[in-house]
Amino acid sequence: MQQQLYVYNTLTRQQGLFQPIAPPHVGLYVCGPTVYGPAHLGHARCYLTFDTIKRYLQHIGYKVRYVRNITDVGHLERDADEGEDKILQQARLEKIEPMEVVQRYTNSFHSDIAALNIEAPDIEPTASGHIPEQIALIEKMLQQGCAYEVEGSVYFDIKAYEQHHRYGELSGRKLEDVLSGTRTLKSQAEKKSPVDFALWKKADATHIMRWPSPWGEGFPGWHTECAALGYKYLGSYFDIHGGGMDLLFPHHECEVVQARAMHNTTSAKYWIHNNMVTLHDQKMSKSLGNYITLAQLFQGTHPLLTRPYHPMILRFFYLQAHYRSTVNFSNEALQGAEKGYLKLMNGLKAIQNMRYPADVIESGRAEVHMTTIEQHIALGYEAMNDDFNTAKLIAALFQMLKLIHALETRSLAIEEAAFEKLKQAYTLFVVDILGLQPFFQTEPTNLIATIMQVYADAKQQKNYAQVDMLRAELKSKGITIKDTRYGAVWEYGEYPEV
Ligand code: ZN
Repeated sequence: MQQQLYVYNTLTRQQGLFQPIAPPHVGLYVCGPTVYGPAHLGHARCYLTFDTIKRYLQHIGYKVRYVRNITDVGHLERDADEGEDKILQQARLEKIEPMEVVQRYTNSFHSDIAALNIEAPDIEPTASGHIPEQIALIEKMLQQGCAYEVEGSVYFDIKAYEQHHRYGELSGRKLEDVLSGTRTLKSQAEKKSPVDFALWKKADATHIMRWPSPWGEGFPGWHTECAALGYKYLGSYFDIHGGGMDLLFPHHECEVVQARAMHNTTSAKYWIHNNMVTLHDQKMSKSLGNYITLAQLFQGTHPLLTRPYHPMILRFFYLQAHYRSTVNFSNEALQGAEKGYLKLMNGLKAIQNMRYPADVIESGRAEVHMTTIEQHIALGYEAMNDDFNTAKLIAALFQMLKLIHALETRSLAIEEAAFEKLKQAYTLFVVDILGLQPFFQTEPTNLIATIMQVYADAKQQKNYAQVDMLRAELKSKGITIKDTRYGAVWEYGEYPEV
């Protein structure tokens, strides 16, 4: 690989050179959503983080296999081994079939995520579609003596595990601390130790989603799902396992424990966790009423929102921060992000539309040389090689933007090769790596060119009523007209009210 990429690994608590197990292949597993409700701001940050990581790995030459599951069974309330299945609970609430809940929220998840220009994974397996794989895994753990069956449920045996391995490898938590902090739940009576977790749960009479197993009818536990799916599609030891920081414990710790017990690995070489989103400095939660879904954000329908926000504003807002820092969500912060986003997009439009040499050279002097452009590009790569630091990349892009504006206003001239390189690199970083797109597609562009011609004619004829009408009309569609020394040009303007 041309680039030396440094990645922070939660497992080692260090940042180090990224060295995949079998380059150029990279296996990437990210815990997908539990589809019992609409996707929210937290989901978007996680999947955007790994979309950016995947895009960059591909750009620098890796062949990535990206697996992101859909949890459609086995995720119980409060992430514990007790209580109702989240999907079943929602099905009762909406008075529909559990699989109808699954389909409804899988569909809305896909459309919300696509609006953010987050690319689909290569494999998107569901838990319910992989029951035999999970049963096989549980049987193997029973054979190895690190699991036990009690009345139709199977639990992982942490005490047995501790005889050969150390608990808390990923999260750094100590077993005695976890034990003292564990609440007493109904199912604890069945467990040898409260820290043991369910691999398979017996379905009681009211439980609809159930499958036959060697231990009777039941359903798999959430931690088993990811362990089985990661193993099936990426193997016993793959490159990257990712997810939100909130999954680090217990979910990811339980995955490591199973991989250690089964294959004596940590499941993945690199564990990557994105940080959380706070809302007006508060943790997001349903009970605090500050839980904003993506649909509410895009339509501006949540009481805390002063207006709708285009998905690209959210994408840029998140990318402005490094994925390991928290981001604080507010209307002001989003509106600030919109301004920055528009600057980047207008720079993209400007450089893509500039013709060489007609639009860039007036004096015939070439003042900007290739070395300057290469320095700018190196700063962009340096940012991404520093643990995918998109915040630093955006800062580097704003420096390139200054150059683009200087070319636009003819205050600088540039060599042809340097100009082409700048155009190519700026487009690569903004479009391919950061995944930013304009609010709307401007095809067919000749239609806008026609409108701009009508505007220019009206202006020449001093028909100010028509000039004002055209400006207002386009503004309501998210297009701003700017009069310059070289005539009128259009730019992307604020997201129009819907
Ligand atoms: Zn998972």
